[in-house]
Amino acid sequence: MYDVAIIGSGLAGLQCAYLLSKEGMKVCVVEKNDRIGGMIQSFVRDGVAFNTGLNYTESLGEGEVLNRYFKLFDLMGNITPKQLDLEQSDIITLGDKSYPIPQGHEQYAETLKSYFPKEADAIGTYMNGLKETCNSFPLYKLKGPNTDFSMDTSLLSMAASQYINKISQNNDLRGLLAGTNILYAGQSDETPLYMHALICYSFIKSSWRIKEGGSGIANVLANGIKKNGGIVMRNAEVKHVRVKDGLVSHLELLNGERVEAKSFISSLHPKAFIPLVDEGGFKKVFRSRILSLKDSIGMFSVYIVLKKNSLKYQNYNHHYFRTNAVWAVDNHHWPQNYLMYTQYNHKTTEFADGLTIIAYMKYSEVAKWKDTYTEERGEDYEVFKQEKAEKLIALAENSIPGLKHKIANYYTSTPLTYRDYTGSANGSAYGVIKDYQNPTHSIIDAQTRLKNLFFTGQNLNVHGILGVSIGSVLTCSHFLGMEYLYNKLIAD
Ligand SMILES: Cc1cc2nc3c(=O)[nH]c(=O)nc-3n(C[C@H](O)[C@H](O)[C@H](O)COP(=O)(O)OP(=O)(O)OC[C@H]3O[C@@H](n4cnc5c(N)ncnc54)[C@H](O)[C@@H]3O)c2cc1C
Repeated sequence: MYDVAIIGSGLAGLQCAYLLSKEGMKVCVVEKNDRIGGMIQSFVRDGVAFNTGLNYTESLGEGEVLNRYFKLFDLMGNITPKQLDLEQSDIITLGDKSYPIPQGHEQYAETLKSYFPKEADAIGTYMNGLKETCNSFPLYKLKGPNTDFSMDTSLLSMAASQYINKISQNNDLRGLLAGTNILYAGQSDETPLYMHALICYSFIKSSWRIKEGGSGIANVLANGIKKNGGIVMRNAEVKHVRVKDGLVSHLELLNGERVEAKSFISSLHPKAFIPLVDEGGFKKVFRSRILSLKDSIGMFSVYIVLKKNSLKYQNYNHHYFRTNAVWAVDNHHWPQNYLMYTQYNHKTTEFADGLTIIAYMKYSEVAKWKDTYTEERGEDYEVFKQEKAEKLIALAENSIPGLKHKIANYYTSTPLTYRDYTGSANGSAYGVIKDYQNPTHSIIDAQTRLKNLFFTGQNLNVHGILGVSIGSVLTCSHFLGMEYLYNKLIAD
C-alpha cells in the first residue's frame, strides 16, 4: 500500500508527488495518458518541439518567488531558464499603437510613464496597488518568519477591471495595464484584482522561457519521484474512487487494477473528479456546487513550423489586440487578440524553427463536435480549424509582416483538444473561474470532507506555473506542515 496516491501527472500532481516522496513517503502517480505533464507537455511536429501550456513563466531570478518554489522542487539547476529581453519582454499592441514593455518593476513604471506622462501618478498608484495586493499573500511575499498563513478575504471581492478604471480615465493606459490578460483569461465582469496582481506583478518582475520546455520540467520531477522510490504509472486512467467509512479506500483503474493508499490527492478538474467518486462520498450540495462552477475560456492554438532561416528568434512575446478594449471576447469578430512567440528549445540558434499563436476560443464554437474524440472528429472539424488558423495567421501579420510566406506547415489545437488530453472541463484553459462577484462559491479547499482525500492543481487557487506551485505546497502542507515548508521556502 502506498502512503499517497496522486491522480494526474500535470505540474501539480508531479510537484506533490516529488515533495512528498522527498520527505520519505511512498507515492504513486496515476496518469491516464501515455505521456506525463498534462497541460505542460511538449510535442514534436516535423522535428520542431512545441510547448502547450507553458509559453513563458515568471519571477525565476535569484531570490524571486517562483525561483524559491522551483528550488523547493529541486527544479533550479535541472532546467535551463532563458530570461526574455530586459528592455522588451512583451510588445503590447492596441490597434495601431505598439508599446514595448520592459521587465523590472521600476523600469516598467518608468517606461509606462514615458508613454503616458500625464498619468505618472496613476501608474505609481497602480504599481503600489499590485505590490500591496501581492504582499498580503504570505505564500507569495515569503518574507521573514510566519505562523499565520491566512489571507485577507476582502481582496477576493475586488475587481481587476474596476480597479484599473478607477485609477485612470485614459483608455490606452487602461488597455495596456490589462494587455497581458490572456495569461489569466481576464474578464471585466469576473476577474478579481488579486488574480491580475499576482500574475502581472510576477511577470513584470522577470519573464522566462524554459529551454527544455514543459516536458523538461515534467521529466525532472518524474525522474526525481522515481529516484525517491515513487512510481509514475502511465496509461492508468482512474474510473472510480471508492469510499468506505468516510475515507477513500482505493482507486479503480480503467484496466481493472486497484491502487490502494493511505491518502489520495486529485489534481483533476473537480468537475471531472466528482463523478468518479462513489455516490455517498460527497454531500449532494457539494456535488452540485462543484458541477455548477463556471470555467474559464479555452484557447485555440496554431503551431507553426517555420521555413528554415525565415524568421529570427525573438526573445520577447507579442500581445496583440485590435483595439484598446482588451477585456472583450467577441465570437463574431474573432479573433480579437492573440499571444504570439517564437519557440525556444535545444535547437534554437539565431533563427527560430517554430512559432505559436494563441487566441481565446469559446467552447460554444466547438460544442457541435463534443461527442467526438481527438483525430476522429471528421472533415468539417478540419475545415473549421483551417479557417480559424488562416484568420489568426492573417491577423498575426500585424506583428510579423510577411508571416504567411515563412510558414512551412502548421498544426492546431482547440478547447476540445485540451478537454480530451487533460480532462479540463469544456477545454477550459485555466480551470474554474475565480469570480470577484461570488468569491466563496469558486474557492476550493485542498482538504475535502473525506479526511484522506485532498485537492491540488490549477483549480485550487491560481492557475499557471506559479499558481500551481503555490497550490502544490498548500496541499502538501496537510502532510508536512505549513511552517516546515514555509521555512524551506524562505531559507537563503
Ligand atoms: C493554451 C495554454 C497556455 C498556457 N500558457 C501558460 C504560460 O505561458 N504560463 C503559465 O504559467 N501557465 C500557462 N498555462 C496554464 C498552465 O499550463 C496550467 O495552469 C497548469 O499546467 C495546470 O496544471 P495542473 O497539474 O493543475 O493540471 P493538468 O496539467 O491538467 O493535469 C491534470 C492531469 O490529470 C490527468 N488526468 C485527467 N483525468 C484523469 C483520470 N481520470 N485518471 C488519471 N489521470 C487523469 C490529465 O491527463 C493531466 O495529466 C497555459 C494553459 C493553457 C491551456
